[in-house]
Amino acid sequence: MTDSHIARKRFGQNFLSDPNIIRKIVEAIRPRPDDVMVEIGPGLGAMTDPLLAALKHLHVVEIDRDLIARLHHNYPAERLTVHEGDALKFDFGSLGEKIRVVGNLPYNISTPLLFHLAAFADQVEDMHFMLQKEVVERMVAEPSSPEYGRLSVMLQYRFAMAKLFIVPPGAFRPAPKVDSAIVRMAPHAELPYPAKDEALLGRIVTAAFSQRRKTLRNTLRDFVAPEDWEALGMDAGLRAEALGVSEFVAIANRLADTLHHAKP
Ligand code: SAM
Repeated sequence: MTDSHIARKRFGQNFLSDPNIIRKIVEAIRPRPDDVMVEIGPGLGAMTDPLLAALKHLHVVEIDRDLIARLHHNYPAERLTVHEGDALKFDFGSLGEKIRVVGNLPYNISTPLLFHLAAFADQVEDMHFMLQKEVVERMVAEPSSPEYGRLSVMLQYRFAMAKLFIVPPGAFRPAPKVDSAIVRMAPHAELPYPAKDEALLGRIVTAAFSQRRKTLRNTLRDFVAPEDWEALGMDAGLRAEALGVSEFVAIANRLADTLHHAKP
């Protein structure tokens, strides 16, 4: 096969081309021969090659038919299992009990993909992703910072996360417009603040951040009654950005108990 693939914008294709950056990413991942690993969006194989040098076998999920044909051509089926289709619909739970997930993710679907993957956290050992730097900063943000929001709370609820290093646009072909960063995510062995009803937690966090400048009294008025604020010992005059994961969980657990969430 020739090397003449034309990058498709609709699939968020920016291919890694800097060997030093590729080496640095694979070193951060530390693949071990027997890992059950899946790479999302292998593309032209920039990371697939060095990963397979360390692994006995690798799963990949790829949506682009031209790239899928190339992958079948370039790698033997016993080393590389190609799952053809949309990673947003892929059942990562079907791969095993302790899977490692990696990928230079298509940026246009990164947030829904992170939420999709969070659903499989019980079966995940760790995940390493390249994302837009700005998205990584939102993921790891602390309360009361401008980057802190729904993504921070919902991912920090389930994962310990670390921003590892920045990757400049020049490391890709074609070069994206923005900086990227590598993030490591590992599911908490035990949830530090377990929610009784995670769907309810998700609805509360979404509502609280839907209008960042408004107070919690306002954004959560369909959920939280004045006596709940009192019982929780929380100031309803604060904004969502002031609350940590533990406080959002406290609100959700209070409502799960008192069933004040009948309205929404
Ligand atoms: N890993 C390669 C690299 O680093 O050079 C390619 C990275 S490129 C940013 C994103 C890859 O994800 C492309 O190969 C693209 O075709 C694939 N992709 C895009 N949307 C996808 C989806 N919904 N499901 C699976 N793969 C997808």
